[in-house]
Amino acid sequence: MAISPDVIERPELELSVVIPIYNEEGNIERLQRELSGALEEIGRDYEIVAVNDGSQDRSFEMLNEAQARDSRWHVIHFRRNFGQTAAMAAGFDAARGEIVITIDADLQNDPQDIKRILAKFDEGYDIVSGWRQDRKEPLFFRRIPSLIANRVISRSTGIRLHDYGCTLKAYHFDVAKGVRLYGELHRFIPALASQMGVRVAEVPVKDRARRWGSSKYGISRTFKVILDLIVVVFMLSYFNRPLYVFGAAGFLVGGIGTLLGAYLTVFKLLTENKIGDRPLLQLAALLMVLGVQFISTGIVADMIMRTYHESQRKPIYFIRERRRSRGAAKTLEVDRA
Ligand code: UDP
Ligand code: MG
Repeated sequence: MAISPDVIERPELELSVVIPIYNEEGNIERLQRELSGALEEIGRDYEIVAVNDGSQDRSFEMLNEAQARDSRWHVIHFRRNFGQTAAMAAGFDAARGEIVITIDADLQNDPQDIKRILAKFDEGYDIVSGWRQDRKEPLFFRRIPSLIANRVISRSTGIRLHDYGCTLKAYHFDVAKGVRLYGELHRFIPALASQMGVRVAEVPVKDRARRWGSSKYGISRTFKVILDLIVVVFMLSYFNRPLYVFGAAGFLVGGIGTLLGAYLTVFKLLTENKIGDRPLLQLAALLMVLGVQFISTGIVADMIMRTYHESQRKPIYFIRERRRSRGAAKTLEVDRA
């Protein structure tokens, strides 16, 4: 029997802390201690949403014990390992806090940094991202790929962050509920949310060595990140009206083809030369066909986007806040009278 996610519509608390957990049995007790300490000091009402991503070790029991000790813990156990992104998405669905904070279970992030993240958030941001300035991880396989990835993602999405990979981040409720995540997209949330028009800030945070156990990722993650980046850039630029992008390419290519064709036609009519064996003729024909194809791909993509927006009731705009007008009903009555 499947349990469907409960998706919360309005915030009911001040803070939710979402933690993805995969085989972290040795970290859970300490995590609970450090988190409780840090959050107690902050003094806002909070919940911890711990998502057990199909761990094969004793994380299941450890998390249930943590929940028994502290009823502010909300524990979700996946049936199997679905990946960190899915775990975070489940946490976002269940989160009830006005501010949703994500943090790793391995204590590489310091729960004490939550205070600084919140202070920044209160200045009026929608996303505050941790920035590990002094990283403890190996240079060659971790820090260099990550440096390149951060540069490329920043440039191509327009949301400039030094550290996309840091899990310690805070999101406004609307952002956490608004982004839809697939594959390994969790690291791109600030970029994806840029579509909503978010205000983003960074705060330097500590990077500590993993407390217990080992990292779940190797260098192969780099390829997934590159492929994800392509999808994100595509989504961000083509999203609403893909026809405009494909159409522009179609007009350009088709236009050049048509000009070449016109030139050849005039050339053939004015002079006695044959044009049948000219490579330029093949090029002209190729470009014209390509132009038509671009435009028809654009139309198809446009229809897919419409299905996406309308079937899921996705808005094409995002509202920051709303102040309702008053007295409209009265005016109407006067009008009718
Ligand atoms: N994680 C998860 N599912 C996975 C892999 C990782 O929930 O399939 C969790 C893991 O337990 C940890 C966080 O995601 O809390 C980050 O993982 P890890 O520390 O291995 O990544 P790294 O810090 O090496 O980038
Ligand atoms: Mg880690």
